[in-house]
Amino acid sequence: MTVTVEPVLVAELLVEGERMPVYVHVVHHPVGRVLVDTGMTELHPAVADMDPRVFPLSGRAGFDLAGIDLVVNTHLHFDHCGGNRLFRGRPIHVQRRELDDARNQEDYTIREWVDAPGVQYRPVDGELELLPGIRLVPAPGHTAGSQVVVVETGGRPSVIAGDTAVFAGELDEPRTEGQRLIRSLDPGEVWLAHEEDPWRPRADPRRTP
Ligand SMILES: [Zn+2]
Repeated sequence: MTVTVEPVLVAELLVEGERMPVYVHVVHHPVGRVLVDTGMTELHPAVADMDPRVFPLSGRAGFDLAGIDLVVNTHLHFDHCGGNRLFRGRPIHVQRRELDDARNQEDYTIREWVDAPGVQYRPVDGELELLPGIRLVPAPGHTAGSQVVVVETGGRPSVIAGDTAVFAGELDEPRTEGQRLIRSLDPGEVWLAHEEDPWRPRADPRRTP
């Protein structure tokens, strides 16, 4: 079974003087193509202090919006849902808790990006098998309603984890419930929204001859 996860750079933000990349991920799976998070497509005064550079999915060579079968949001912070409006009429899978928080909590996100015209959600309560071999699993920590996407590969699973860890090194010493959950899945690789390369487990010294 050939499954690949493709990171796509959609924005850069200025955070504490450093440029932080924003990636979304496309899971190419025999059963379908799943987009995890949608990044940003435009600027907004609320985040002008982060001096965003935006490379939206729309109108970019080699990216086929119509070829996406399913869309998932790991969570609804502005840098993860700004492209939801590009998928009008295609229900976007998000944990119900996350959707409630994004709609009701102050200073949580850019709310007009969450509920842009035509955007529809499929609220998920807990785990869900999205497609055979691809499932959604709640992973609280970064936000209470965060979820990750677990992809069976035939070997160790791949996990697309949004901001469950903002920096890959956090997964070496997991602290949040979501980080511990990811480690418990014994993944071969973990893709994060703000890291170009996936986190991989270090070689287990007990297995070294
Ligand atoms: Zn983020």
